[in-house]
Amino acid sequence: MSLGLTKSQMAAIYDHGERAYPHECCGLLLGRFEPEDRKTLVETWAVENNWEGSGEFGLDDGQTSQRRFMISPDDYRQGERHARSKGLEIIGTYHSHPDHPAIPSEFDRNNAWPVYSYMIVSVEQGKAKVLTSWTLDDDRQFQNEAFFQAKEV
Ligand SMILES: [Zn+2]
Repeated sequence: MSLGLTKSQMAAIYDHGERAYPHECCGLLLGRFEPEDRKTLVETWAVENNWEGSGEFGLDDGQTSQRRFMISPDDYRQGERHARSKGLEIIGTYHSHPDHPAIPSEFDRNNAWPVYSYMIVSVEQGKAKVLTSWTLDDDRQFQNEAFFQAKEV
């Protein structure tokens, strides 16, 4: 499993994480599924963290958007429409962990879908530090996904 991305895509995710600090940022990863468990990221699609409004979906567990994120169904649909118009697919999501390591939480795992990539950027004291990517295996455990550098488009 590996995920190709460019330096500027990485910078865009870092930047979004820093802007949202101390809250979690989130967004969709638009790109392509390639042979041999590879994915290529083509575009990052920033969305609003809708956690504060997640009560209506029965998800609210008393945590704030400093520890949780939620991408609304409308934002998924919009991202998907945009992806299709460019011949791309949603290949995963990204979110930030303010003052927390770039390791998925149990909440992240419970809310993850197979095949998708889950990128996490840690943001310490407002500075983006580490970017990781994860994908579920057959036992619904997260496996770390390696990055490879893709060419700028
Ligand atoms: Zn998380």
